[in-house]
Amino acid sequence: MKKDCKIVQDLLPAYIDNVLSEETKLYVEEHLKSCDECKKVYDEMNFDIQKEAVKNTEIIQTIKKYKRKIIALKTFLIIVILAIIITIISIIGFRFYVVKNALIKNINYDVSGNFRIEEYDESIERDDIHTTTYYGVDKMKKVRGEEVLEYWESSQHYYINNENKTYYILDEDINENNDIYIPILVVDGMEKLIKDNKISNIEILKFILNKDVTIQEEGFRTKEYYVIKNMLNGERIYFDKDTFWADKVETRTSFGTKEYRVLTNSVSWYDVTKPDLTNYTLINN
Ligand SMILES: [Zn+2]
Repeated sequence: MKKDCKIVQDLLPAYIDNVLSEETKLYVEEHLKSCDECKKVYDEMNFDIQKEAVKNTEIIQTIKKYKRKIIALKTFLIIVILAIIITIISIIGFRFYVVKNALIKNINYDVSGNFRIEEYDESIERDDIHTTTYYGVDKMKKVRGEEVLEYWESSQHYYINNENKTYYILDEDINENNDIYIPILVVDGMEKLIKDNKISNIEILKFILNKDVTIQEEGFRTKEYYVIKNMLNGERIYFDKDTFWADKVETRTSFGTKEYRVLTNSVSWYDVTKPDLTNYTLINN
């Protein structure tokens, strides 16, 4: 190898990168024109570099492609999350909006959950104290301020007057779960409703019953009774089927059984749930 060839081949990388001075560049070019061997080395070197460049370009293209895909995926995820959030907010908002408006307008609309709203032809009567609203022909609600004093719905609701509390209940509630009730205030004329058989005794008893109480029918001294047995304290209350008076209470403790009776009709039916024994006379020990 000639001395010039060695210098030129050392300079070739710098020549290809185009960083040589003008003078040296001309020197290399002159030599390449006249030297086949160096021209061959130059061509190989240049080809390798170009190949490398092409490869780099391909890598960059691939990276760009993936970058675009990642951006698209990110955008998609953001849209999905936003859609979910908007849906949830809409459902909640719609529910509140509809329920609120349905309550105001009394439109016919069934809402699953805690609300049941129906359409009524309303008529409202007011005096100084009460507001009474008639819904169609078979529903009525009487309120004093915020308090519901009376509510009825012909075949579906009952009043249960229990120690200054009135409950109204739905048929299905009685059947499925005895302890569902909504307490409201006293209803006048409860006893009349019972007497007129608008509410049967057994319906009231069904309502009064809870998990710890059982009921059976029993005859005692020519009268028929419902006997309410409290499974927790062993108490039995004898409940006249005809008059609906609680005539007799038996208490059972580890010391023995005590029997209390009422001689006059002074103990009302609500004594079934909570007997006040001061109203009874102790018969035996
Ligand atoms: Zn040469």
